[in-house]
This record gives sequence, structure tokens and C-alpha cells, in this order.
Amino acid sequence: MLCELCGKETPLTSRIRIEGTILNVGPECVRFGERIDPPPSPSGAATAALRPRPGVGPVRPAGGRRLEERDLYQEIGEMELAPDWPKRVRTAREARTWTPEDLGKKLNEKKSVVLKIESGSFRPPDDLVRKLERLLQVRLRAEAEPASSG
Ligand SMILES: [Zn+2]
Repeated sequence: MLCELCGKETPLTSRIRIEGTILNVGPECVRFGERIDPPPSPSGAATAALRPRPGVGPVRPAGGRRLEERDLYQEIGEMELAPDWPKRVRTAREARTWTPEDLGKKLNEKKSVVLKIESGSFRPPDDLVRKLERLLQVRLRAEAEPASSG
């Protein structure tokens, strides 16, 4: 083998450290550095500590709370109605000479519901608004904004 310091062929080498660098050198060069002992045979020892422990996963943040305000609004109905929608219902119903009971039957609602709607004390949900509009051929929703073109 070769001495890593002088490059000469040498029957045996020793490990030395010169300014932090470890070299395998021949006997005549050992004196240039600090001789260090050969490392213990790397059989098994000291590697087990580096193995990751099973069962310890990444920590997940607790909670996951989701607010669902939008769903709530959808249930209540946010269709914008004309200011005089109760009057429009009543006028359209009377034009057809239907009693509140008649209209209630057609809507699958009670007569009291119709009366509440016509008095404005009950704001019908969106699907009921559509039914009323269809049955009475009247528009209860607020007027759409005029088209910008024209
Ligand atoms: Zn040498």
C-alpha cells in the first residue's frame, strides 16, 4: 500500500491526524502527525439508536371545527322580495276569487299560513315564494336591477 503523506510504497500503514485530516501513512511518516487508534470494528454497535421509533406519527392539530353559516342562510331563504309582497299575494289571490283556504290547499299549506303570508307576518321560504309566483302568476321578488346596456 501507499503512504498517503509521501506516496511511497510501504508494508503497513498507520492512521495519523494532521491538522484535522486523517491519513494512512507509512512508519516513517507517523511522526508528522498525531497517531490515532484504529476505529473499533463496525459490527452492529451504536447504530440502533438512530432507528425511528414505530407508532409515533406526526402530530395532527386538534379540532377541525367548521362553521356552516352559508347552509343556514340557504335554509332560511335569502331571496329578496318586493316591499309589498304580502299585498301582491292577496291581490293576486282575490283576482282569482280564491279564498285563503283555496290557496292554502294549492300550496299544501294551512289557511293560517296563507293569512300570515298576506299579512306579512310570515316570510315564506324561497320554494314557497316560487310556488306562489307560479300559482298566482305574480312576481313577489324584488325587481331585478335593470340591464346596463340600452
Ligand atoms: Zn510516508
